[in-house]
Amino acid sequence: MDAHTLSAEEKILLTQELLNQAYKKLKLENRREPMHELISTMLSHRTTHADEEKAYYTMLERFGDWEGVMNADFDALADAIKTTRYPGQKVPQIQQTLHMIKEERGEISIDFLKDLPVEEAIDWLTKLPGVGLKTATLVLLFNFHKPVMPVDTHVFRVSQRVGILGAKVTANKAHEILLQMLPPDPVVLYNYHIHLLWHGQRICTYYSPQCGKCVLNGICNYYQDVREKGIDEAE
Ligand code: SF4
Repeated sequence: MDAHTLSAEEKILLTQELLNQAYKKLKLENRREPMHELISTMLSHRTTHADEEKAYYTMLERFGDWEGVMNADFDALADAIKTTRYPGQKVPQIQQTLHMIKEERGEISIDFLKDLPVEEAIDWLTKLPGVGLKTATLVLLFNFHKPVMPVDTHVFRVSQRVGILGAKVTANKAHEILLQMLPPDPVVLYNYHIHLLWHGQRICTYYSPQCGKCVLNGICNYYQDVREKGIDEAE
């Protein structure tokens, strides 16, 4: 099959089917409470999951609760989250975020987002310092089961290599394009996100995609293009 002859819509359907078979379909369950998800996602920027978790729990152990984190001394908080990359940038982002939530809501909680329409919830979250579309959509999908598509580096790379997204699409635009092609069902969106994340971490890695082992290779533009030049480059 010539992968280039398939439309993006056909590719996304096939990608879902193949990855559902490879990784099994997942239930959408809350893994962490909303404030945990929000602050952990801010901590996770360019940081491994293990180091992000270490920083999160050290921070709460040292300062007790969100009020304690919000009012902590800069150096002390930076030290608590030093297992993450750029702790000096993350301290003001986290503290300003906590201040803004407290000021606007009277408490440090974002549970109210479950009752907001999707666009309003995205607008509200992306006004917080350090919160972009990816973080906002992760919180809204994982915690409130809203029909959004978090596009992280893995979702973006795999979708682009397969040919679901064009070469010049930005990550923010990718959110919109993928949403238009997928049904507005949070379980489907969750599976697409998690399956592409796992696939990008394990098989379709940035530097050395293991195309020979990949269940998507029959529909993948990147594989077909590289294979035409010589199969060794894609193995
Ligand atoms: S065939 Fe290769 S480039 Fe395409 S999705 Fe699989 S690992 Fe990635």
